[in-house]
Amino acid sequence: MANIYMICSVRKATEKEKRDLTAYAEDLRKQGHEVLCPITDTNQTDDIGLRIVEEHEKEIVWADEIHIIWNPDSEGSLWNAAQARMAKRFMPEKKIIVVNLAHVEPTDNKSYTNVILATHFGLTPPTTLADLNKRMPKRKAKTPQKITKKITLWQCGICKTKYKTETHARLCQDRFLEKKKFAVGDRVTNKERRVCSKTNTQYTFTGTVISIQGPEPADGEYERKWLGEKRERLNSHVFSYEVEYRCPQCNKKKSALYYAPELEKI
Ligand SMILES: [Zn+2]
Ligand SMILES: [Zn+2]
Repeated sequence: MANIYMICSVRKATEKEKRDLTAYAEDLRKQGHEVLCPITDTNQTDDIGLRIVEEHEKEIVWADEIHIIWNPDSEGSLWNAAQARMAKRFMPEKKIIVVNLAHVEPTDNKSYTNVILATHFGLTPPTTLADLNKRMPKRKAKTPQKITKKITLWQCGICKTKYKTETHARLCQDRFLEKKKFAVGDRVTNKERRVCSKTNTQYTFTGTVISIQGPEPADGEYERKWLGEKRERLNSHVFSYEVEYRCPQCNKKKSALYYAPELEKI
């Protein structure tokens, strides 16, 4: 079991930091260590500060381990860290560690932060920033990373639909291929009457097939609802026909997609 002296920001610590520091000390005590935490164990009332400094000097001498929760803005931490380093000169078995290593970043030029970090890693001169950075814990990447994932898909040879499994692709490929009933340019009419949205009257049109889409697996739900659930269609790849026509009620030019059973050649 060790005597542990903590160095941390006191005056500048936020309430949350204070709670975290106290909890850290409590944890160490539970492990059986003797801990001195300046947040709870030091009387901070001192007009000069000399009594506090001398108290800390004694504590640093007393400690086997000095645990630094480094905050570069804390003057007191800087003073005490310097004292701890000096104490270690005479008592080299003392351990000085930085607890919040993951939240401290080395600076690009010389700084006390760099010195504290180097002390943590036991670096001695001559040492470089590269030496220090090599020892720092890996940080989470700051920029999004591109992740390329390899996936295998199976494609139906008829409709080109991609499936995650070979079985599903095979099932699709085993569907029949509907024979095209119309060609582009064919004149067709609709079996089920449409409703003109302007005049609200029903009509059939005379239109022209302008494109053919597919083949694609028959849309089961639509087939069941509107096309009488014909087995040969349900088990097929089917085409859809884009028909251009003029509404005979309002004379507006329109186009719509139809399946073969919905159209009749004229
Ligand atoms: Zn298919
Ligand atoms: Zn119309």
